[in-house]
Amino acid sequence: MLILLTATLAVPLLAADEHGALTLYFLQLPVGEETYRVTTEADGSLTLHASFEYAERGSRVPLSATLRMKPDLTPLQFEAKGKSYRPFSVDAAVQVNPDGLTATVREGEKTRQAALPARFFTISGYAPFSVQMMLLRYWAGHGKPARLAQLPAEAPGTEAQIEVAGQDAIEESGRPVRLTRYSVGNVVWGRETIWLNESGELAGGVSYAGGLPLEAIRTEYRPAFPQLIRSAVADRMKELAAEGSRIQPLAKGEFAIAGATLIDGTGAATVPDAVVVVRDGKIAAAGARSQVAVPKGMPVIDGRGATLLPGLWEMHAHFAQVEWGPAYLAAGVTTARDCGGEFEFITSVRDLIESGRGLGPHLVLAGLVDRSGTGTFGVNWADTPAQGRAQVARYKAAGFAQMKIYSRIQPDVLAAIATEAHRQGMTVTGHVPEGMTAMQAVEAGMDQINHFGPVYQEVRRAGDGRERVIQFFKDHHTVVDPTMAWGELLGRPMNVDIASFEPGFAKAPYTLTSVIGTAGTPAANAPQNARWNDQFAVLHALYTAGIPIVAGTDKAVPGHSLHRELELYVQAGLTPMEVIQLATSGAAKVMRMDGEVGTVEAGKRADLILVQGNPLENFADLRKVMRVVTKGRMYDPAELWKSVGFRSVVSLLAP
Ligand SMILES: [Zn+2]
Repeated sequence: MLILLTATLAVPLLAADEHGALTLYFLQLPVGEETYRVTTEADGSLTLHASFEYAERGSRVPLSATLRMKPDLTPLQFEAKGKSYRPFSVDAAVQVNPDGLTATVREGEKTRQAALPARFFTISGYAPFSVQMMLLRYWAGHGKPARLAQLPAEAPGTEAQIEVAGQDAIEESGRPVRLTRYSVGNVVWGRETIWLNESGELAGGVSYAGGLPLEAIRTEYRPAFPQLIRSAVADRMKELAAEGSRIQPLAKGEFAIAGATLIDGTGAATVPDAVVVVRDGKIAAAGARSQVAVPKGMPVIDGRGATLLPGLWEMHAHFAQVEWGPAYLAAGVTTARDCGGEFEFITSVRDLIESGRGLGPHLVLAGLVDRSGTGTFGVNWADTPAQGRAQVARYKAAGFAQMKIYSRIQPDVLAAIATEAHRQGMTVTGHVPEGMTAMQAVEAGMDQINHFGPVYQEVRRAGDGRERVIQFFKDHHTVVDPTMAWGELLGRPMNVDIASFEPGFAKAPYTLTSVIGTAGTPAANAPQNARWNDQFAVLHALYTAGIPIVAGTDKAVPGHSLHRELELYVQAGLTPMEVIQLATSGAAKVMRMDGEVGTVEAGKRADLILVQGNPLENFADLRKVMRVVTKGRMYDPAELWKSVGFRSVVSLLAP
């Protein structure tokens, strides 16, 4: 039997017994291996056994899958069990029933019967990659449909989208090898790149989708890894640019927004019936209608019934896939601080957005650095003070605003990085390194601390001396991004529905809900209210003492979780006005960008959101983003959400 993988190339479907091994990478760091074997049985049916395992920052991530197929690769039976990332598990099975028309589908403990479409494949998430190899072979042998149903996902809207993206010529021990590059969408949230060689074998995969970057390359092709990364980055940028030309702004150039209640982000009283004039990407004028006239002939957006605010800041992004761009804008985020990713990818995204061709928030980058060795995060290392200074120089040259310290950096290296970063006009954020306390890390030069844990623990440990600890952070102008919503998600008792505290979860596509929905803690071990209340009390004490708090998500539910983070601060006792300020002008100030952005004032960048209702009266109204303006271009969040698979948050008012 033959299968056509490209128009010109016919290859044997399978050898009698086929196998392969791939090196797995996490943020380009080799972390594990995937092996697979395909066996052919006497009746011509095939079975894929795939096993995938990596160790990542001290956690094991194992996943195995079995897939039995008819001779034409139509699935008969599929099972996948394990993990796809530290907090996320996979436990799915599909069994085609004897009638051949239906299947028994199990996801976790839920089982259902599904009618089988004429063409379909069985797959669950991005791993193991060799299941995607079989998906591509099936697709090639079944008419290359633009959309291919997949189980256990339930149609509609969950079909895989496969395209041939191009060819890559690589070398294996001096011998040229031609790879075909596929863009595979909607197996996980976003698009991945998978390569097959001339024999149809899995050559590699780069997943800038569904989480932090994960890569695989067939072990004999390892030297080609940097080349494959470049191809995948280029494809994703092409796709982001295509979305940028497909989704056109509702308004740009010169326009005014009139009639909304204005919260300008400075902390000043609200202005009812305000007028904001936007011209060439900047705010030309803002104030009460009695003071600011709409220039004659200028298009006016009716803001009655809505509140106009500065665009929000996401201070703990891991912008590891292009889909974050539209998702953030749709949620009202117009600036995002990236807290560490792959250098090639993140600088390319930033530049594409900056050029105006890519849809997304303005990106401010923090350059990740960790010690070398296993269990490390990424491949940007510093083991000595000199290496630390070299990392600062490299990131500075690439336009990064900050350094992001990771957990295994040594104290003397941290001090050298901080001194050099400050000398270069950069700031230092990150994790408190292992073996150090938050106060020691600040003493060594850290300006900001990511995640609440280390600061909270320091304050708790001090007991009666907590005032002194808080004063220390205040004296050092330490900035904290607590990432509480992420903690809430990971700590949620498994019997509590995520949508009950994060309504955005109910709007998310299957590719996200099926993954994020597995995060949580057994109900008996989940954090109790008392623990939350204590964290809230410490957060409130820090804020009241004048320690800048900035809001970040560390991912969670794209876009939406920033709102949850802010809601938790309101629960902690901050006023809605205080929370809006810290998420706008406060973040701009700590990033030293308050001269250009962060408030609704003449001369500032036109980064604005128009929300239905009034978040000072009902804080949840902040989620109801009706319009977002980024650098003077106004977009419809409903269209942006849709472009990345989400359902819309608000039904828009008539124009
Ligand atoms: Zn992070």
